[in-house]
Amino acid sequence: MKNNFDINNLVRENVKTMKPYSSARDEFEDFDTAEMIFLDANENPFENGVNRYPDPQQSNVKAILAQQKSLKANQILLGNGSDEVLDLLFRAFCEPKVDNVITLPPTYGMYAVLANINAVENQEVLLSQDFQPEIDAILAAVNQNTKIIFLCSPNNPTGNSFSDESIVTLLQNFKGLVVIDEAYIDFSKKQSWINELDEYPNLIITQTLSKAYGLAGIRLGICYASSQVISVLNKIKPPYNVNELTQKRAIERLNQKDKSEQEINSIIAQREDLLKVLDQVKFVSKIYPTEANFVLIKVDDANKRYDQLIAKGIVIRNRTTQPLCENTLRLTIGTAEENKKLIDALLAIS
Ligand SMILES: *Cc1c(COP(=O)(O)O)cnc(C)c1O
Repeated sequence: MKNNFDINNLVRENVKTMKPYSSARDEFEDFDTAEMIFLDANENPFENGVNRYPDPQQSNVKAILAQQKSLKANQILLGNGSDEVLDLLFRAFCEPKVDNVITLPPTYGMYAVLANINAVENQEVLLSQDFQPEIDAILAAVNQNTKIIFLCSPNNPTGNSFSDESIVTLLQNFKGLVVIDEAYIDFSKKQSWINELDEYPNLIITQTLSKAYGLAGIRLGICYASSQVISVLNKIKPPYNVNELTQKRAIERLNQKDKSEQEINSIIAQREDLLKVLDQVKFVSKIYPTEANFVLIKVDDANKRYDQLIAKGIVIRNRTTQPLCENTLRLTIGTAEENKKLIDALLAIS
């Protein structure tokens, strides 16, 4: 696999042959900028902190990520949320109306939406009853136009991680790209698949600052992959897709590792407290194992319980219409105070 993997067999023809847009800032990136006067990008020259276009390669953010993850900067691509990163994957590798991808419901809804927007067939292969990938069914669904398999681990909305064995089997047997969406990896005891990038040239990992890092508002998504995959994505990304304020705020936060770690630990502690209480709530018939900052529960009547919680001022996610998720609710773990209010409400409506 390692020796005969060629990314060029997967890239769309028009992407392979296109000439990327070259921005003013791209062309002068290597100069000693302190000495220079920039009259190349039609910017307003009066300094206010954001009057200049941002670094199109986000070099300072990538340098920190590369150091923290022990990777090279050319194995990283940043996007306007992971949603943009996922969209770039479709646009780089999936020919509209020809190629297809495989997703494993119940899972994150954006894969199906992005497939639809890009006119790419989405082959859905349901997870097993215990929410693990059905490897034989997935491999049976693969055809010569299957470009990407999307795995979400820990999975949203189920909360569990996929077994290492099933992920390795897919990486070894599928000749296209395997994307592992690790939006919730920092809440899990499992190691990131980032450590396996050198082993599998077809492995792509997405992460985000939206969950564990507490920065959903700045929109910063991350793609880790081989430098070949990253250079394809770089070619098609909008030049200034990550704005200056986002880059500044991301750097600040990434340099405060302790703060994120403390918050993650607090969220996990609250999650464990909530799990204990849920066990005593009469209308809860099942608590699914979770490695994320949310928990999926099965109840007697999801619509009724959802409405009762709304009436008490608490908004959760009703997942009852999702496959394999009849009468389930997804609860995000909040602060200790919020968690207490949730627990009081659950006991009150019991
Ligand atoms: C929340 C979430 C994301 C985050 O997307 P952003 O665009 O980075 O905010 C990605 N994948 C999954 C599975 C999620 O639940």
